[in-house]
Amino acid sequence: MLKNIEGKTTMKIYRQKFLSIFMTILLVFGLLSCGVQEGSEITESSAGDTTDVIQVTPTPDHEIKNIVLIIGDGMGIEHISAGQFYAGAPFAFASWQYTSVNTDSVKVNTNRLTITDSAASGTALATGHLTVNSYLGKDATGADVPTILDYAASLNKSTGVVTTDTLYGATPAAFSAQSIDRNAVETILTTQIASNVNLLCGAVDTQCTARQVEILDAGYVFCDDFAQVDSTLSSDKAYWQFDLAGNGASIALPDASVKALDFLDKDTDGFVLMIEQAYIDKYSHDNNFDEMVKSMSSLNDTVDAVMEWLGDRTDTVVLVTADHETGALAISTSPVLANECTSFGTPIYYKWSRADHSNAKVGLFVHGVKADFTKFDFYASQHQIKNSDVYYLMYDILSNPINYGE
Ligand SMILES: [Zn+2]
Repeated sequence: MLKNIEGKTTMKIYRQKFLSIFMTILLVFGLLSCGVQEGSEITESSAGDTTDVIQVTPTPDHEIKNIVLIIGDGMGIEHISAGQFYAGAPFAFASWQYTSVNTDSVKVNTNRLTITDSAASGTALATGHLTVNSYLGKDATGADVPTILDYAASLNKSTGVVTTDTLYGATPAAFSAQSIDRNAVETILTTQIASNVNLLCGAVDTQCTARQVEILDAGYVFCDDFAQVDSTLSSDKAYWQFDLAGNGASIALPDASVKALDFLDKDTDGFVLMIEQAYIDKYSHDNNFDEMVKSMSSLNDTVDAVMEWLGDRTDTVVLVTADHETGALAISTSPVLANECTSFGTPIYYKWSRADHSNAKVGLFVHGVKADFTKFDFYASQHQIKNSDVYYLMYDILSNPINYGE
């Protein structure tokens, strides 16, 4: 499945591909002001002078019913470029409508911004509220706030969360639980099981398994055998635990995601599904370049599988974004960076400047709708799109399904 390009004939082809990929990267970088500032605290945007306006593209005549939000945890722009080199071809989603997104969270008891963790950034994406690091489903005052899945449920739509992390991981928890402490596993699992999210799918974990009685009492069917998953597809609520964690997992994220689409699509009112590849972040914390790019391939394969599942349907918006960048990664085709990776046939040079998150902007890629972010002036004074604005876009699409489809 993963491509290693070897041999003279393929090398010639690769050089041509390489040139086109390099041009794509140059184009992406031409579009971006993607500065990575090191340091643990900032008081204002690092790229506040950037004007982000998504290109207007023709839209078909249809009504939007569904949203699929795909999150690459820790996936900066350089991670995407590295993944494309590894694949030997551009990712399809990299050519979608694009804007860059600021990911800063809020410092406790101040209006100052700081580098986010996955809890605060997941909450911003899920609820539209900039919040404090470690807060899940809570605004900066600590109050519970509804998620886009809650809003979808109020419209009689089905909702789902799929992750390669455990279900109490910060990103899936931000969409389905409430806690001011991202490490309070008991609180997260209790609120998550009571959430009424129709589909909860995560990596196998003993703390989740221990809640099986409670999960069944809440009306979920419980399935931990992927070979049996089809028997749960007609259920109203399902709790899936599969071997999804890391690059060596036996169940691939694209396969679990397609089953999730099958599960949710039986609702004629539509659905909202969040899918997360958590291991881009985890391998970036380890500064493990080779494993990180494999997780990027998994994310791209997941996007491709969702698009293949959709076929020519025009009732579904697909968004690809990240909660934050991890590692302050830089890559280059020339030997100006410290580390060389030869796994791609042609050497790629890279450098990690951190083992934690950075405040580099991330990308938002949009398919299936014309998305004009200038109407969401949540942080208008800074002239930049925030991760919380992704929530407002999804809310607006669900609120105006015909307008967005026309
Ligand atoms: Zn992280």
